[in-house]
Amino acid sequence: MARYTGPVCRLCRREGVKLFLKGDKCMTKCTLERRNTKPGQHGASRARKESGYAKQLREKQRVRRTYGILERQFRRHFAAAARRSGKTSENMLQILEMRLDNLVYRFGFADSRAQARQLVSHGHFSVNGRKTDIPSFIAKPNDVITVRERSKSLEYFKTRVLLLAQKGVPSWLRLDVNELSGRVITIPSRSDLELPFDEQLVVELYQR
Ligand code: SF4
Repeated sequence: MARYTGPVCRLCRREGVKLFLKGDKCMTKCTLERRNTKPGQHGASRARKESGYAKQLREKQRVRRTYGILERQFRRHFAAAARRSGKTSENMLQILEMRLDNLVYRFGFADSRAQARQLVSHGHFSVNGRKTDIPSFIAKPNDVITVRERSKSLEYFKTRVLLLAQKGVPSWLRLDVNELSGRVITIPSRSDLELPFDEQLVVELYQR
């Protein structure tokens, strides 16, 4: 299945919540705030009562679309989460947060996860000194993610330094702005993640 390349605001309208897929633009000019109806011909018609299955499915789609992952890969992450000890729902979010594209976004090297994914696949980052261009790479605590030397001279990263100095990073990450480098301090717990998901519904969906 091909990656979704259509208008991303449509995804937010479908889910009825802001998924913040356009980075900083979502803070100023949000389509959903102007037009909060489902996309499509019958989108504005009266909302129907959602079944339990529909609620679970919508929550899964919210999580998956927020991280910009296709269904097959999302299922793979879920299966890995289920194999770990502890709560599957929390494990799943931890795996998603430790993806390299998500970390690049969390460090502020990109405005959105989609942009982060592109920067990673274009080979601008190294993990522990080794070039890594796989967005789904799962980092571990103490891993150091750095903009590669050859990429630091690009105009994009030069201007990024100024932006990074103004932005903060979550408490479970540490950023060295001058080196354009970030370290994963620890795996975030659920309370570290300000995510508006009811991830237990995703577990219920896949365990039906
Ligand atoms: Fe979603 Fe951002 Fe578009 Fe608003 S501007 S609808 S949050 S992608």
